Amino acid sequence: MRQAKIIDGKAFAATAREGVARDVAALKDKYGITPGLAVVLVGEDPASEVYVRNKGKSTLETGMQSFEHRLPADIDQGDLLKLVDKLNRDPAVNGILVQLPLPDQIDENAVIQSINPAKDVDGFHLANVGLLSTGGDGLVPCTPLGCILMLKETLGSLSGRRAIVVGRSNIVGKPMANLLLKESCTVTIAHSRTKDLPGECRRADIVIAAVGRPEMVKGDWIRKGATVIDVGINRIPAPEKGEGKTRLVGDVAFDEAVQVAGAITPVPGGVGPMTIAMLLRNTVTATCRQAGIDPENL
Ligand code: NDP
Repeated sequence: MRQAKIIDGKAFAATAREGVARDVAALKDKYGITPGLAVVLVGEDPASEVYVRNKGKSTLETGMQSFEHRLPADIDQGDLLKLVDKLNRDPAVNGILVQLPLPDQIDENAVIQSINPAKDVDGFHLANVGLLSTGGDGLVPCTPLGCILMLKETLGSLSGRRAIVVGRSNIVGKPMANLLLKESCTVTIAHSRTKDLPGECRRADIVIAAVGRPEMVKGDWIRKGATVIDVGINRIPAPEKGEGKTRLVGDVAFDEAVQVAGAITPVPGGVGPMTIAMLLRNTVTATCRQAGIDPENL
């Protein structure tokens, strides 16, 4: 039976982190600069706690400075904005990430737009969104950035390939589509109102699934030999592992798709590991730009 090549996100992420660590060492040696990443966590959401802990640990492992700011869930917006302003002005902080989601009393967009775009390592500020959609060099959201790097490593040039992005969120779908366009793909963006989604997917050489619906993209939606990037992270019940147990699946029915695709990312172990690696990469990129250093020539 046919088996697609498995795109090993853990291996890509390990290589990316090694590259970041080398660049951090070069920044220290040649310029006396230690990049710093500030992560702001509001409240005690357990999933966010885990992300923030992992981000802090990974930041330190690459030789950068990590600044963690934990704020109570009932903090008011003015105090959060004051902290962001302080981080914007702190020269030791090169990247700022405010962990989402934020509590209801806080206007998420106001907080994101208050971050200095040069330090916006999530790439969500309108200035960075605008740069991406006009083909400029801003800071690019981490998950789509990881996807495009894995695609280029797997396929070489993406020019002229037909790509579909299923999902049009601001954090994944739209920036993903813009990155594919920048690589000269012919891009279709699909969403919940798309007619004949299976047919649209079957025309694509590259399928990006970023929907948030467990195993929605079936094997017979995939063209033979296509490359499949599964962004979805869905926790579903796994009674086979015992009562109350769960497991993670993507937005693609992996067992079916792996028999048709040319290459595919697994869940877990595909896109997920690359996201933090790209956050570290963005912090180095931001540091270099702030100091007027070409990150390509470290
Ligand atoms: P959102 O909920 O913001 O967006 C989901 C998108 O999917 C929407 O555009 C929606 O369409 C579309 N959609 C929903 N149902 C259907 C359907 N039946 N057919 C076609 N399209 C549909 O999700 P995110 O973009 O934030 O995340 C997507 C997935 O990626 C989630 O599983 C999330 O957990 C995961 N994720 C993983 C990351 C990682 O590091 N690996 C990082 C970020 C997200 P419409 O706009 O019409 O409503």
